[in-house]
Amino acid sequence: MRKNKVEKELNEQLKELCLTTVQKRYADIASMARRETLSYEEFLHELLKEESEVRQNRRRERLMKASRIPEDKNIDTFDLKRLPSKAAQQAKTLFTGAFIDYTENILVFGNPGSGKTHLLCAIGQEIIKTGRKVYFTTCSILVQELLQAKRDLVLPNMLKKLSRFDALIIDEIGYVQQNREEMEVLFTLLAERYERGSIMLSSNFPFSKWEKIFKDPMVTAAAIDRLVHHSVIIELNLPSYRMDHAKVGKSGRKIKK
Ligand code: ADP
Ligand code: MG
Repeated sequence: MRKNKVEKELNEQLKELCLTTVQKRYADIASMARRETLSYEEFLHELLKEESEVRQNRRRERLMKASRIPEDKNIDTFDLKRLPSKAAQQAKTLFTGAFIDYTENILVFGNPGSGKTHLLCAIGQEIIKTGRKVYFTTCSILVQELLQAKRDLVLPNMLKKLSRFDALIIDEIGYVQQNREEMEVLFTLLAERYERGSIMLSSNFPFSKWEKIFKDPMVTAAAIDRLVHHSVIIELNLPSYRMDHAKVGKSGRKIKK
């Protein structure tokens, strides 16, 4: 009788405190604790370990969804051996996510198909595992959204929203030709985030060609200056992974050139 009352009240308390995993698991873990004669502390530790693991996993799932990073572009599907040794070394360090603490930027350059997007996404997913917030977008989509926000007089709100992410991945800067007004809003974002949040960007164009992107020499210099100040620059001058794989026929044999 007393046991029933305790169980009933315990379930109510756990519900009130939103300890759903503890509620689901306490009976099984209590049996295990009796079997293995765990101390009270060990029992409590086991129980709370499960609660926090479930919460962390849920948080990671939420962050992953909010990031819009394609899930298949992760560290397990990324072949580090394809990278030049310096870039591979840099990638390994970046996978730890420590650069976020120093608000460092990551700038990846290379020809199409060299793995820029995949690398940035894999780094992004590793950062999410440490509980950080990341947001992935392409430069052209981002610019359209910023411009729309500016027209609707809500640009400061959008910049504020973006500032909540620890890292912002801007993929393919310069890939689509954009006009001066479009590049101005991008510059506003870069200036706003300077030393406040990491930017991870990829480009097919080296800095020497960025005037084509930003149109104005002063704006170009100011943008590069802010991005480079605290940054890791990765050069991926590799043959296209897509091309390499297209050369392999369905049978898995290399097609002769
Ligand atoms: P980029 O952004 O430089 O154009 P992507 O990252 O889109 O290149 O890579 C092109 C394709 O090749 C993608 O499907 C990507 O997953 C794959 N790929 C590129 N580099 C690697 C790599 N090192 N390991 C595994 N897959 C790769
Ligand atoms: Mg890409």
